[in-house]
Amino acid sequence: MSLKNRLFVPMGADGVYARTQTYVHVLDQLEKFITHQRAAQAEVLRFPPVMSRAQLEKSGYLNSFPNLLGCACALHGSELEVRLMADRYASGEDWTEGLAATDLVLTPAACYPVYPIIADRGTMPVGGLQFDIEADCFRREPSSNLDRLQSFRMREFVRIGSEPEIMEFREAWMLRAPQLADQLGLPHSMDIANDPFFGRAGQMMAVSQRQQSLKFELLIPYTPDAKPTACMSFNYHRDHFGVTWNINTANDGPAHTSCVAFGMDRLTVALFSIHGPDPDHWPGAVKAHLAL
Ligand code: ATP
Ligand code: ZN
Ligand code: MG
Repeated sequence: MSLKNRLFVPMGADGVYARTQTYVHVLDQLEKFITHQRAAQAEVLRFPPVMSRAQLEKSGYLNSFPNLLGCACALHGSELEVRLMADRYASGEDWTEGLAATDLVLTPAACYPVYPIIADRGTMPVGGLQFDIEADCFRREPSSNLDRLQSFRMREFVRIGSEPEIMEFREAWMLRAPQLADQLGLPHSMDIANDPFFGRAGQMMAVSQRQQSLKFELLIPYTPDAKPTACMSFNYHRDHFGVTWNINTANDGPAHTSCVAFGMDRLTVALFSIHGPDPDHWPGAVKAHLAL
């Protein structure tokens, strides 16, 4: 059986899969492993796979990644109008012409919803805030590769505070993440990165992001000769979300923010690719760290 078939059951679309028990068991243990790394003061929030469209628009997503966004649409109107549109399906016509956008989009990254929540609470406490968040994310990037899903789980530790607090958080995590990868027996490298900003204007944004060293990735080669896959990212947003949402630190003006993102599916697939299809046969140290 191929690794893909052992881990995933196809659901009729590239990058959209049911997870098998074998896979989910490892994923759950990996979640617990990451939970052990979280700061004691972190607030836990679990987000659904949809979020407010208005909030995502305000965050600037349409500027940066309009090609990746999925928007929830629905049939609107009177009973008659909805019925007529839906009945088009049975008569072989295009019923989707009747769809119109709703106030929801599919969450494209776990941390977008956290900033407006904090903004609503008013001025932040001295020392800033930390979060442990997670969401099932959607990105319109269909692929048959195991490391590029359309629907995938992203866990994040988010830090909101003054510029020095944020720098310290990200630097500490960039030292710690490779140690975690070592504990899991995963070969890795750390590299500067950029987000896949859309279009020609996006190329400028990518250059600027690299010049300012705003994004790093922990890369894992699934096989010795494979192009390494970005399994964690270390992002510094400067004061973008602080200014956008009017989040203010106790004494230092607009908040700076950073997030450490764990690609839960990419990490789980990495474990199976590197250690083999049967967790019973994984190295003892790896099993011990994951309590498998
Ligand atoms: P890539 O360059 O590979 O597309 P990214 O820069 O878009 O990755 P981020 O936006 O930093 O990724 O997302 C945080 C983490 O979520 C990534 O490090 C990765 O582990 C995971 N991730 C991103 N896109 C996908 C995807 N399509 N399928 C599975 N996991 C993903
Ligand atoms: Zn984030
Ligand atoms: Mg991407």
